[in-house]
Amino acid sequence: MKRILVTGGAGFIGSHLCRKLLHGGDDVLCLDNYFTGNRTNISQLLLNPSFEIVRHDITFPLYVEVDEIYNLACPASPVHYQHDPVQTTKTSVIGAINMLGLAKRLHARILQASTSEVYGDPEIHPQREDYRGLVNINGPRACYDEGKRCAETLFYDYQRQHRIDVRVARIFNTYGPRMHPQDGRVVSNFIVQALRNEPITIYGSGSQTRSFCFVDDLVEGLVRLMNVAGEVAGPVNLGNPNEISIGQLAEMIVEMTGSQSTIEYRSLPQDDPRQRCPDITRAADLLHWQPRVELKEGLTRTIAYFDELLGKAIAPPQH
Ligand code: NAD
Ligand code: UDP
Ligand code: UDP
Repeated sequence: MKRILVTGGAGFIGSHLCRKLLHGGDDVLCLDNYFTGNRTNISQLLLNPSFEIVRHDITFPLYVEVDEIYNLACPASPVHYQHDPVQTTKTSVIGAINMLGLAKRLHARILQASTSEVYGDPEIHPQREDYRGLVNINGPRACYDEGKRCAETLFYDYQRQHRIDVRVARIFNTYGPRMHPQDGRVVSNFIVQALRNEPITIYGSGSQTRSFCFVDDLVEGLVRLMNVAGEVAGPVNLGNPNEISIGQLAEMIVEMTGSQSTIEYRSLPQDDPRQRCPDITRAADLLHWQPRVELKEGLTRTIAYFDELLGKAIAPPQH
């Protein structure tokens, strides 16, 4: 049995990860400052004596005793990470230094939740881990993209300089139950709009693509990456290579919900990547992992979640 720290544990992916680790028999210390996450995501876990939560901001030092660290703390939706861009960079960079300092003191293995955003608006398709990306260094997405890129640099510097056992997952668009209904991401926006028969807001023409991974598949990949034996030489893409345009996604969600929604076209945000799709050869070779949940099945489960949630009062994110 291990004692595992999950930063960002009250967020969307973090709450699924905490649950999975508890089911595996480990002790989980869930850390969060509730910037975008909330207690409801983890309320059912509180009954488990192996689960503990701490309210803390990872831009400040943290002294706890754990065997492993999953570093997920960081707002992930463009709306949220652009709300306070300086704090976003601090979370990624100073947060990484603190968590790496903690890992160094404890000789603990540490996994970083990096992102496909390190590839920016990619010229190589699908994206492999050796592609170095095309990121606008001072645009509105840079606080997230460059913060995550710098965090990766720190992870590999701590590996080389201090022999820390690090793992870096480059996570592609992930969706599923417990996404926040107001978090501004496309899957949650479209489902909420469709269920309310409100216009579906497509930014740009809808021809831009993404590849959506169901959260259970993603979390399985994270745990495998953490547990694979030996030194892991570089980052590993985790995502579902099934690519779809945003226009097609809107059609699919309208059809699946039987919605009366119309489509409303809005301007495309600056630096919005035109296409994104992971090459997951490395994850398949190293982790024997591949996503199992088809988009239609995953959307069915996510729609059911939002359908139930929309009947209840929803606490907005903190800002
Ligand atoms: P989320 O916003 O639901 O969760 C992030 C959590 O981190 C929240 O609970 C938030 O309150 C917490 N947090 C933010 N700043 C913090 C700080 N300074 N100190 C402590 N806690 C803090 O997002 P998510 O989708 O669950 O993403 C989790 C991680 O995965 C993030 O690091 C994100 O960058 C990465 N990621 C997610 C996706 C995706 O599609 N969801 C894609 C790529 C990468
Ligand atoms: N740190 C922490 N918890 C620990 C050890 C370190 O939060 O248990 C933080 C501390 O703020 C430190 C940072 O991690 O500044 C980096 O630690 P490291 O040992 O690499 O560097 P140093 O302490 O020399 O600055
Ligand atoms: N998007 C959209 N309508 C929305 C929300 C997002 O058309 O209501 C688009 C957005 O411009 C982007 C894609 O959907 O092209 C995915 O957006 P999201 O914010 O979910 O993730 P990211 O851009 O970080 O991949």
